[in-house]
Amino acid sequence: MRLCRFGDSRLGLVEGSKVRDVTAALDVLPAYRYPLPGYDPLIASLEDVIDRIGQIAASSPVLALEGLRLLSPVANPGKIIAAPVNYAAHLSEVASDSQLNAGNPGHLVTIHKAGLFLKANSSLVGPGEGIALWHLERRNDHEVELAVVIGKRANNVSRKDALQYVAGYSIGLDISIRGQEDRSFRKSPDSYTVLGPWLVTPDEIPDPGQLDLSIRLNGETKQSSNTKYMTLGVAELIEMASSFYTLHPGDIISTGTPEGVSPIVPGDVIVATIEKIGSMEVKVRAAETIGGRHGEHNVSHKAGNLR
Ligand code: MN
Repeated sequence: MRLCRFGDSRLGLVEGSKVRDVTAALDVLPAYRYPLPGYDPLIASLEDVIDRIGQIAASSPVLALEGLRLLSPVANPGKIIAAPVNYAAHLSEVASDSQLNAGNPGHLVTIHKAGLFLKANSSLVGPGEGIALWHLERRNDHEVELAVVIGKRANNVSRKDALQYVAGYSIGLDISIRGQEDRSFRKSPDSYTVLGPWLVTPDEIPDPGQLDLSIRLNGETKQSSNTKYMTLGVAELIEMASSFYTLHPGDIISTGTPEGVSPIVPGDVIVATIEKIGSMEVKVRAAETIGGRHGEHNVSHKAGNLR
């Protein structure tokens, strides 16, 4: 099953090039009062929602997928966990390129030593919202990654049991400003985590370790690999993450990017594809300042020749 969120936070059941508007199935969710839970309510009740979708889908309105504004399929994750340097060929390209390693190649270590990092929840958008670049004077890169959505609360999960805790898979983009700051800082501006185009339930992806993934930038293929080249697979990443924090329904694990990262600038169009999930188009623009120091982060610095 493929579930999307679209428009003004409608719930959609994706069937090929059509989407059934099954928003009425959200009526099975409990009513929450303040304080709100620290997990995603839809993912926490996903089995009940899917049961209800089964009852109402046939009589639900049918829309064309094309033209719908797709939002992140997870609206309120408790946390966004990300894997650094989880493909050996990407680790090699970072080690050999001073623009990628910020001049500190000796500081690069494997994921076994680096562990995982967190991205701000406020960085999360869907493909229809696009990427708004901050700090145009610096190098901003695309990173395509298989994203795992956790379905059940758990900690200290063994890799043997780990896939039982998966609610589904999506395509993730881990947009990154290059530099010396902590990853959590330079990968967390608004819109720097894109999740989409929908959530695919695990019955459609029995082996997340055998998926082609790629990214095209303005029609040119930049990244093209397979999740079999991940240093730590999905099960190992769940084991690692859950050994440091309890995982909750809706938590997202972005599993790392393969080689081929490259700069993006306003006006670019990204198409990211993962086998058995689908493709999503994401447009790149410059961020607008909302109050504060008007325009400073984009207007006073001219974009250099970054490509
Ligand atoms: Mn990444």
